[in-house]
Amino acid sequence: MQAHYANRVTNLSESITIAISSLARELKAQGKDILSFSAGEPDFDTPQVVKEGAIKAIQEGFTKYTATAGIPELLSAISEKLARDNNLNYSAKEIIVNSGAKHSLFNIFQALIDKDDEVIIPSPYWVTYPELVTFSNGKNVFIKTTQANNFKITIEQLKAVITPKTKMLILTTPSNPTGMVYSRQELEAIGEVLKDTNIWVLSDEIYEKLVYDGTFTSAGSISNDMLERTITVNGLSKALAMTGWRMGYLASKDQKLCKLINGFQSQSLSNINSITQKAAIVGLNGSADKDIENMRIAFKQRRDFACEKMNAIKGLNVIKPDGAFYLFVNCSAITKDSMQFCKDLLEQVGVATVPGIGFGMDGYFRFSFATDLKSIEKGIQRIADFIKG
Ligand code: PMP
Ligand code: GLU
Repeated sequence: MQAHYANRVTNLSESITIAISSLARELKAQGKDILSFSAGEPDFDTPQVVKEGAIKAIQEGFTKYTATAGIPELLSAISEKLARDNNLNYSAKEIIVNSGAKHSLFNIFQALIDKDDEVIIPSPYWVTYPELVTFSNGKNVFIKTTQANNFKITIEQLKAVITPKTKMLILTTPSNPTGMVYSRQELEAIGEVLKDTNIWVLSDEIYEKLVYDGTFTSAGSISNDMLERTITVNGLSKALAMTGWRMGYLASKDQKLCKLINGFQSQSLSNINSITQKAAIVGLNGSADKDIENMRIAFKQRRDFACEKMNAIKGLNVIKPDGAFYLFVNCSAITKDSMQFCKDLLEQVGVATVPGIGFGMDGYFRFSFATDLKSIEKGIQRIADFIKG
């Protein structure tokens, strides 16, 4: 038989962040001395209270199908969390729980993007956005940010790329891979440009709890107009160290959109894991806040340490990120070819990082500090030795 695969999937690339993390794991399993700074995954364990919520759910036999959008108690917990933490007013009908924030994004693009619709993506961007836009037959329109402007888009840049076909703007704050956080004023200025347009904002707020300097503002909280056009995406993976539990959610004031997504989620997923839903309620209702704060403090310490050490290496420089757990390191004084640089780092000194080109910006690499201080120190020393030659 001669297999023919759908263009839709053959045109997609595998996630480079996942590919490198898997390769590092494989090399380690073969006994190689590898230090991995590639994964965007907290090294902490899921908080005990959350685990207990899951154990209780199993013991009580909460093991059956649930409502597609999530159980009512979970939707209420999310609604309360969004009001309490983010000053966002969403009713339970305006929230859908998905199998990870990545799945929320997939659903949103599928529901909103038609052929040739333009999606504005600030670059550097998280690897998944352009692939999912392509999967929806949409067109990626990148705004290239600069280090000099803290990797944030300017209002002039935004105005310059808007066309009658613009359907959506993606905002990631704090950003993966740069860790930059948009201030309230910056979001207000963006809101002002979008006013009187039909452009949606997709606000990916998955790193919201990991902010070290300044304050976090939800895009939808700045005005009624922004609330209406914004689809807020968040999840448990990063804040609660729950990457493997697979839970994310989307919220939109457009109940028709929620209904449509609910409809096709009922045909594709049915619902996310019932046990994860019970655990998520505990994670979101404030019971794990102390654990979240302890992790944030540990990440801040690692950020400060890693930044100082990295900036001490001749040829490298990095802006201290305000949030998330990545350093986006400028290596352009050494080479612009980030793929080759990261390949050499892995092969020659056993340090796994992600090339900037995967995020749309060559001359940089991403170093995740979601790992222990000792490994960070050792890894940066290896990078320094490699560069010294
Ligand atoms: N958005 C961003 C910016 C991310 O870095 C990630 C990391 N995986 C996600 C969404 C998706 O997270 P998850 O699917 O684990 O909820
Ligand atoms: N978001 C994480 C990262 O950027 C996890 C990997 C992925 O989902 O692509 O590394």
